[in-house]
Amino acid sequence: MYRSVVIALAAAGALAASVTACSRGEARASATAVQRATLSGRPVPPPATPETTGRTVAAPAPATALLPANRLGRIPVLEYHLVGNHDALYSRTRAHFLADLEDAYRRGYRPITISQLVDRDFRDVPAGMSPMAVVFDDASPQQFRYIERNGQLEIDPTSAVGIWLDFEKSHPGWKNRATFCLLNGAAAGHNFFGDNPKFQGQQNAWRFRKVRWLAANGFELCDHTVWHAMLNKYSDNVVQEQIARNAMAIDSAVPGYRIRTMALPYGLWPKNRQLAWQGAWTDPKTGVRHTYHFDAVLEVAGGPTRSPYDPKFDPHHITRIQAVDDDIRKTLDVLDRTHTRFVVGR
Ligand SMILES: [Zn+2]
Repeated sequence: MYRSVVIALAAAGALAASVTACSRGEARASATAVQRATLSGRPVPPPATPETTGRTVAAPAPATALLPANRLGRIPVLEYHLVGNHDALYSRTRAHFLADLEDAYRRGYRPITISQLVDRDFRDVPAGMSPMAVVFDDASPQQFRYIERNGQLEIDPTSAVGIWLDFEKSHPGWKNRATFCLLNGAAAGHNFFGDNPKFQGQQNAWRFRKVRWLAANGFELCDHTVWHAMLNKYSDNVVQEQIARNAMAIDSAVPGYRIRTMALPYGLWPKNRQLAWQGAWTDPKTGVRHTYHFDAVLEVAGGPTRSPYDPKFDPHHITRIQAVDDDIRKTLDVLDRTHTRFVVGR
C-alpha cells in the first residue's frame, strides 16, 4: 500500500499542484506543472551516477549593495525535492541547485529556518540583506547520503547536504539554516534519507543518525507525514495518525525535539484544516494519546511568502517557490525590480 501511494506521487502530485494552484488563480503554473510531471516528473530516485549535467547555467546576478530596510517585504521560501542528475518537477540537478544558492548569495540573501521566519528571528541576516528559507521535502537519499570509508561514515559531498556544507565553507555568512520536511515510512528510500542499500547504498541503521545530525547542526526538522498521504482523502483520525506518527518517529531519532513546522504533502489540506497544525492520535496498541501542535504550515506553491510583520501574514499558510526551471531566478528578479523583498534593518 505504501508503495502504490508513493509511486502515484508524480501524477497525483502534479494534480495536487494543479488543484492548489488553481484555487489560488494560478492556472498557468498548474498547467505547466501537469505537463512537466507527465513528461518526466518521477519521485523514484535515479541511480547514483556521476554528474552528467552539461547544461549551461545562467550567469549569476552581480552582487547587490546593502539595501534600505523593508520589513514588510516578501521572503522567498525555496522548495527542493531530489537533488541529482536531472531536472524535473521533483528533481533539480546538482549544478542548478548550486547555481540557485550562488545567485541568492550574490543578491544578498542569507538562509533562515521556517521557525526563525515565524519568530521574526533575523539575527543570521546582516542589516541591508535579505532572509530566504530553503526547504527540502521527502527525505530522500539524494538530500542526505552517507559514504562508508574505512568504517567511518562521511557525508557524500554530492548529496544536497554535502553541497550545502561545501558552499558554506566558501561563502562567508552562509550558515546551516534550512528546513527538512521528513517522511519516515514511504517507498523508494523516502524514509529518513534511505532505508535500504538498493537506494543509493544507504543503510537502515543510518537513518536516525542523519536526522540527529541535522538537528544538532543548525537545521530544522519538519513533519511531512509518514508516507506522503493525500490528507484531503482521509478521515480526521487517519490524518492525525499520519502526522502524529511522523512526529513520533522524529522524536525517536531526536528525543524531545520540538517540531514547529509541517509541510502539506502535495499541498493538499485535510478536510478539517486545523488538523494540519494541531491534533492528537491515540495509538490503539498502547492506548497512549499523542498530540501535536505546529506553528507553521507550508503550502507547495504561491510565490514568496509575506513578511511576519505583515498584518496579513498567516503562519499556517506559508507559500513557497518550487525549484523548477528558472522560477526561482525569475521570482528574485521580480522582487529586485519591484523593490518588494524583505530587507533587514539595523
Ligand atoms: Zn512532499
